[in-house]
Amino acid sequence: MKTDVFADRHIGITEENLSTMLEKIGVNSLEELISKTIPENILLKEPLALPPAMTEHQFATHITQLASHNKIYKSYIGCGWYDTFTPPVIQRNVFENPVWYTSYTPYQAEISQGRLEALINFQTMISDLTAMPLANCSLLDEATAAAEAATMMHNLRSRAQQKSGANTLFVDEEIFPQNLAVIQTRAIPQGITVRVGNYKELEFTPDIFGCIIQYPNNSGNIEDYREFTARAHEAGCKVAVDADILSLTLLVPPGEWGADIVFGSTQRLGIPMFYGGPSAAYFATRDEFKRSMPGRIIGLSKDKYGHLCYRMALQTREQHIKREKATSNICTAQALLATMAGFYAIYHGPEGLKEIATRIHHMTTWLGNQLTHLGYTQKNISFFDTLRLGLPAHVSPQKLRTIALSKEINLRYFDNGEVGISLNETTTPADCHQLLSVFGIAAEESVHEVYDIPQQDSIPQELCRTSSYLSHEIFQKYHTETEMMRYIKRLERKDISLAHSMISLGSCTMKLNAAAEMLPLSNASWMNIHPLVPEDQAVGYTELITNLSEQLKIVTGFAGVTLQPNSGAAGEYTGLRIIRSYLESIGQGHRHLILIPASAHGTNPASAVQAGYETLTCACDEHGNVDLEDLRTKAEEHKDQLAALMITYPSTHGIFETDIKEICEIIHKCGAQVYMDGANMNAQVGLTNPGTIGADVCHLNLHKTFAIPHGGGGPGVGPVCVAEHLIPFLPGHVHFGHPQNEVSAAPYGSAGIFPITYAYICMMGAEGLKRATETAILNANYLAASLKDTYGVVYQGKNGFVGHEMILECRKIHEESGITENDIAKRLMDYGYHAPTLSFPVHGTLMIEPTESESLNELNNFIHSMQQIWKEIEEVRQGNASREDNVLINAPHPEYEAVGSQWTHTYSREKAVYPIESVRENKFWINVARIDNTLGDRTLLPTRYGKFES
Ligand SMILES: *Cc1c(COP(=O)(O)O)cnc(C)c1O
Repeated sequence: MKTDVFADRHIGITEENLSTMLEKIGVNSLEELISKTIPENILLKEPLALPPAMTEHQFATHITQLASHNKIYKSYIGCGWYDTFTPPVIQRNVFENPVWYTSYTPYQAEISQGRLEALINFQTMISDLTAMPLANCSLLDEATAAAEAATMMHNLRSRAQQKSGANTLFVDEEIFPQNLAVIQTRAIPQGITVRVGNYKELEFTPDIFGCIIQYPNNSGNIEDYREFTARAHEAGCKVAVDADILSLTLLVPPGEWGADIVFGSTQRLGIPMFYGGPSAAYFATRDEFKRSMPGRIIGLSKDKYGHLCYRMALQTREQHIKREKATSNICTAQALLATMAGFYAIYHGPEGLKEIATRIHHMTTWLGNQLTHLGYTQKNISFFDTLRLGLPAHVSPQKLRTIALSKEINLRYFDNGEVGISLNETTTPADCHQLLSVFGIAAEESVHEVYDIPQQDSIPQELCRTSSYLSHEIFQKYHTETEMMRYIKRLERKDISLAHSMISLGSCTMKLNAAAEMLPLSNASWMNIHPLVPEDQAVGYTELITNLSEQLKIVTGFAGVTLQPNSGAAGEYTGLRIIRSYLESIGQGHRHLILIPASAHGTNPASAVQAGYETLTCACDEHGNVDLEDLRTKAEEHKDQLAALMITYPSTHGIFETDIKEICEIIHKCGAQVYMDGANMNAQVGLTNPGTIGADVCHLNLHKTFAIPHGGGGPGVGPVCVAEHLIPFLPGHVHFGHPQNEVSAAPYGSAGIFPITYAYICMMGAEGLKRATETAILNANYLAASLKDTYGVVYQGKNGFVGHEMILECRKIHEESGITENDIAKRLMDYGYHAPTLSFPVHGTLMIEPTESESLNELNNFIHSMQQIWKEIEEVRQGNASREDNVLINAPHPEYEAVGSQWTHTYSREKAVYPIESVRENKFWINVARIDNTLGDRTLLPTRYGKFES
């Protein structure tokens, strides 16, 4: 090992480990293993054409230099993004803290109580501010939330509306342009007609099923929608409101005037603009619509001893289970950013948030008055933080713009020559004065220095909020930094993350998220930049985006790429929209079927439906491969209707199917496209790629294969890479005058986290990436070889090897001992491990993906734990342990039980909590016993105010 070779730090297996592992697997060399795992006809002949790998130090210098090419001006552009101040206590203890950013989506609730509590705090805040009873714990961004609202209202149409074909969605013209664009992308394939107009003039006709309005609107005006909403409801029409979350501390919230859905962004609650993302969108609705709501909901539940705890509720309506019938395709969302926004609300409390909003509002009012004196006309009469101004005859927008830019100020320039100013949390009286002087110079009027901004309110009385919010004690207790820091720490200690042990979740690729990759994110030149600044202020981002796009093309073997989608599932939807546009362009727009293997991830069928397609399932054979005959038959039978095949490679079973090229050929012969789900790309990078295999399009999960951390359920980036013929249909952006297939609010989606993947690829280089892939396959095969004689491995490739993950058989155990795969998952917690993927893609199994980042020691400790658990199962099977009271069905054993004065089990406390020696060194103390999965669903309590009836 060389001390400065990054790949040697990223990859856990050393040269010395290799022989032991190869021997166990039964091959002579790594090359032999790879050649027996991956079909010969798809192997790359040449190394990836990437530049030489950088050291950590070289990369740090390089990325700092790129960042310095961004110019950080004061942006008053608004339009959905606002400068904000991230409290350092949150930045340091959450955003920059691997326990928070490397943890997984909280499916295993017993070891996720910290982030579950943080997320229910977020939901409580949203529910309070919007005055809606039910909020989810984030969506991807404001614009996708708008599209979700459209889909949800469409799904909620009455029977009569469905029968009469009520397919019109009304969208008020005063909505942010990017929201409208993303709604359009969604509406078109679903057969929804979007009617854009002035809400005041709308005549409700029976074809309208829903309305979307914005509060305050695109021009900054606060409209009074009460009468409109009442009229809509009379006409049987739902109303969704895009609301500025901070403004709701001052304005009558939509929940109090009858809205059915309220959504928006929480970026301005302490999340840097990051050139557009990531930040968390929120989504709230009425209790009666809970089963139709997109996204995840955290709810209260109880553990088996009756202690109150949290868990993700209503998982049964998610795409994992409901597939094409799911409420939405959303999987990865924005958990880390929602966590931060929730903490921001806790840190400031209701008075603090109100003070921030009031301060902004007072300055805006004052500025409006002063600008009127200078001869500017205020176009919006009632406002929160935004002024829309008409210019005096002698001031051209160009003149104003030149002066503003010379003072390093960005304003919003509307197409009709009017100008917008949106103030924010960071705006000071000095900033107001500087703004005023810019407008003064343009108007050739002198302005006076101001020291104190008077406290002027201009919100109409009838729109002023009178109801209270954030009254739960959680929003009162942590207003000092010491208290806040300790609260964050207290939650953090309840969660297992990669900082504790290997998280071997199959399909999720929980690899190292190196500090060198994460550090650049804290650079103000990446953080504090508005997505709609003039190009010459974002040169650093442009270079980053260009370089990263090139890297991804090289890795996938494709010709074009879009970085816009904010998650893998969003990438799937985008890829299918691209295919749709392409097919339409060649007169094949009638093709309406997507063929999906039975083993596919639930997001595949859910995304197909979202892109307006119907799905057709093809079977898998007993080896876990796509049943070639069934595929051929179905493809031929539906030859003229088939739009695409969606296939995961290596398969979700972790196997490199040998027929993959033939599969692609069959589909192409039908005139259809091949979509590759790239979630398993960690088994391909540097060895093969979708371009070589013969696919037309793929998405990548940068938050799996390419080192972006999982964040407890987001953020993510789901780039879509395409072959040459699909390039013309890649997403554009309305702010570039080209809204085609736009899928995210920001032109480059979650640009703020691109430095992570860029760092990973720059520092790994071609050789490092290839070695990472080989090692991931090595590690999976080592685990398979070590566990095959006890549990057994469900699927193997032709030569008896697995890919980068493997499925552990647990069904026989259940038959013989009554112990389920869930019991094994829970028991692993007592050993300090997060469970592998449970019952996906095969029911009654565990899917393990170790990744290349784990050391042989850690792999061996995990194997040892699994084997010890096997012995515990044997005790039950052979009758040496009770079937009703054993370490497995009672797992996990929480700390309070272990130290309690009562101990009634038939085994010792020591066996319960220290099952192997190594646990003593690294004990993870669990806070709650096994959680009741049904209680929280029967009585959904999605906020901190909830109480179970006793
Ligand atoms: C993770 C995953 C997805 C979904 O990706 P998200 O980023 O969570 O939306 C899709 N397909 C497969 C096979 C996956 O493992």
